[in-house]
Amino acid sequence: MFDKICSAVVIAACAIVAACSSSPVAVDLSPSQDGVRLDYRAPDAETAVRLSAEIGAASGLETVHDPSDARRFSVEVGRDARRSMYPLAASVGGGRWFIYAPGLLPQCFGRNEVRIGLAGGAASSASCEPDAYLIAHLKNQTPPGAVLSPEREGVGGAIEIAAVQSLELLSERLGPAPGSSHVIGVSVTPDAPSGIVAHVDREGAVLFEVRPSFEAGLNADVLRTQVRPLLRHELFHRWNMTRVAADDGVPTWFYEGAAEYTGGLISLEVGDFSAVEYEWVLGAMLNRCRVATGAAGLEAAGQGRVYDYDCGAVASWLLDLDLRRQGADHYAFWRALVSRAARSGTGRYGRDDIDAVLEQMGWDAPTWRLFLKGGSPERLVEAVGAAGGAIVHEGAAGDYRIALLHPLLAANCESASYGFFDEPAGVTLDVDTVCEVLPSRARISRVAGVDVAADARGAYLAARRTCDQAKTLTIIANDVPVVLQCAALPEPTASFRILDAGLREGVHDAV
Ligand SMILES: [Zn+2]
Repeated sequence: MFDKICSAVVIAACAIVAACSSSPVAVDLSPSQDGVRLDYRAPDAETAVRLSAEIGAASGLETVHDPSDARRFSVEVGRDARRSMYPLAASVGGGRWFIYAPGLLPQCFGRNEVRIGLAGGAASSASCEPDAYLIAHLKNQTPPGAVLSPEREGVGGAIEIAAVQSLELLSERLGPAPGSSHVIGVSVTPDAPSGIVAHVDREGAVLFEVRPSFEAGLNADVLRTQVRPLLRHELFHRWNMTRVAADDGVPTWFYEGAAEYTGGLISLEVGDFSAVEYEWVLGAMLNRCRVATGAAGLEAAGQGRVYDYDCGAVASWLLDLDLRRQGADHYAFWRALVSRAARSGTGRYGRDDIDAVLEQMGWDAPTWRLFLKGGSPERLVEAVGAAGGAIVHEGAAGDYRIALLHPLLAANCESASYGFFDEPAGVTLDVDTVCEVLPSRARISRVAGVDVAADARGAYLAARRTCDQAKTLTIIANDVPVVLQCAALPEPTASFRILDAGLREGVHDAV
């Protein structure tokens, strides 16, 4: 009788009803060529029907009932199967797997632990949280910063070395991380959405997905400018998105931008970025953001990669500058906000909490607020100067190259886009820039007699002078002169350049 009542109510209730614990759901993992198959055995047929429907709905995958045993069903999880960006199942080497509970283990079947076997072999228990990854076949408790990966060489080993150091730095500044998981997993798979991506779950487990080609191309520069900044971004989420998290009223750029900024800032502090490099990175983010938002501030902007990461990181930088003028900084702000959210009992922080932290600590944030509200470039230049940094708003070499080459190519070619990248020997057109009058992937070294790589402004001015008097001008492409029709060349759009991010104090110098 009691069993019957139990299976009729939501399974989560079983967690507090001891009688339900007698026959748990067992799961068996079998790796296959396209991913992994999960075989489930429920305590009875009725539970099996309900669970299989729940798992089908949560994962979006088809569940298949076993015709010979009504308690059993299975689901094939393709390597590319995801739920809101999280891979549902990811192998991290050594027979260990990250299994995404919200898709495959609904409510952890009402338990704190789930028994999982591997390919019909002996089962072992793994701790399960409903909002997080279950890590199957993890032999021992892992210390903070420990990395599960197919091999110690390569990206896994590099991440582990950096993780231990980064966690120490973050814990020193932010206090202990609120989540329970210490695990970092690395899954090397051709199905990674790009060369390297990472996810953090609600308990703090971090999962990297790395393409084999990315791992094969690893070198010291990729590690210091891409892998380690990304790792530090994810580790910061252990504080601002794990157990403690933003409520729905907080825009994504606020917590993603803070993570992006932290990834770069720690990389600067430990010497992975030189000050000049990090200023270049910040400047590029500021310019991408400015193009996306125009003079309207970030608060008026929508959602998307540029807003969330580029604009968000710049906002965090400006807040950091404001706070540094007042003896605090980015870390002090987040430490106060995270502990306020943790104390509240809900683990959530909202806009009011952000304002309250600033007010209670007596911190003012004029540059940050200006960036959120919007304003002219001149006002931002002035405000950053007052906050201890230095930026200018002017036509940089890249702006002159765009002002010169985009109209010129558009007047002579028929391409959907006119992308190019700068090289010391000239400007090389992207593969998707199609232009019949030029050789494929043309490298343009001179325009109107001036070296376009070394003197972009000079080349732009020479082209304007030539086109004031003539209908054509000559460029050198792949070392051969090519005559092009002239075009109207508008003034270049100015962009920001960061002369001093105001972060150099106490920073290691070179790489
Ligand atoms: Zn993030």
